[in-house]
Amino acid sequence: MKLENIARRFRIDKPHKFKLADHDPADCCGLTIDKDEARTMLAEGISRLSALQEKLYASDTWSVLIVLQAMDAAGKDGVIKHVMTGLNPQGVDVHAFKQPSAEELSHDFLWRTTRSLPERGRIGIFNRSYYEEVLVVRVHPEFLARQKMPAALVTKNIWEERFEDINCFERHLTRNGVVIRKFFLHLSKKEQKRRLLSRLEEPEKNWKFSAADMPERQRWDDYMQAYQEMIRRTATEHAPWHVVPADHKWFTRLVVAEVIVQALESLNLRYPEVDEAKRKELARIRATLVNNKG
Ligand code: ATP
Ligand code: MG
Repeated sequence: MKLENIARRFRIDKPHKFKLADHDPADCCGLTIDKDEARTMLAEGISRLSALQEKLYASDTWSVLIVLQAMDAAGKDGVIKHVMTGLNPQGVDVHAFKQPSAEELSHDFLWRTTRSLPERGRIGIFNRSYYEEVLVVRVHPEFLARQKMPAALVTKNIWEERFEDINCFERHLTRNGVVIRKFFLHLSKKEQKRRLLSRLEEPEKNWKFSAADMPERQRWDDYMQAYQEMIRRTATEHAPWHVVPADHKWFTRLVVAEVIVQALESLNLRYPEVDEAKRKELARIRATLVNNKG
């Protein structure tokens, strides 16, 4: 299967029918390639991405928002590192959203991420995002309690309301030139265990281990339920979710890179045109520069 079709295959086009259980975290679409081949394919994807990014930056109109969501050890950091190498750092911003600060908790739930949206011409990557508000906050109601919401507004409809607000917010962004692509890196519980064990067993990986990830692992099924519902309710045509198999890191990276390439290609980006008057002016300046002694 061509990479182009592979990327499309993981886009959730029929959200109301979406079931996480129908998606295999170890899927590689039958591709059996060795590490070197995967590296070459990824390098090709990245060089296409790099050329597109230059045009995105030069045209200074569209921007791209990449949202990455996943359980711990699913490879968000690796995706950012590998997919974004080769890009011009001036045109990319990465923001990681952890537990909210006191200041952030004093605002509505979209405030902190809104401040970090990419400017026109740039690619913004959210390592976690406002989607935590319907994931970790849903699994841990005590986090909702800390948000200082007026009690009258916290009803059983709160998650439904958040989905609706997120959809409206993303539509607003889309209508203003922000191209949104959302990724759930879908890891199996078994592979997470293997990765957590290797963080415990290999000294150079010890720093990556966080004891805080263990209680979240205990709540695996609750998280999967929350992810499934989030995707069902917020996968839209303008801001689609891709559920990307994450048990094989090389495959995850290929798919994410390809989806971003396709999103940029769909914009038909061109370098800004220089009109006749400007061209003449440039020619005149060039002549002066050439004739300039020294
Ligand atoms: P890494 O472990 O690779 O450094 P990470 O994204 O897991 O990356 P951590 O500091 O381990 O970073 O975890 C951040 C934690 O903050 C996660 O458990 C996440 O669910 C939590 N978090 C993010 N947003 C919110 C939020 N709005 N409310 C409560 N908790 C949140
Ligand atoms: Mg973590």
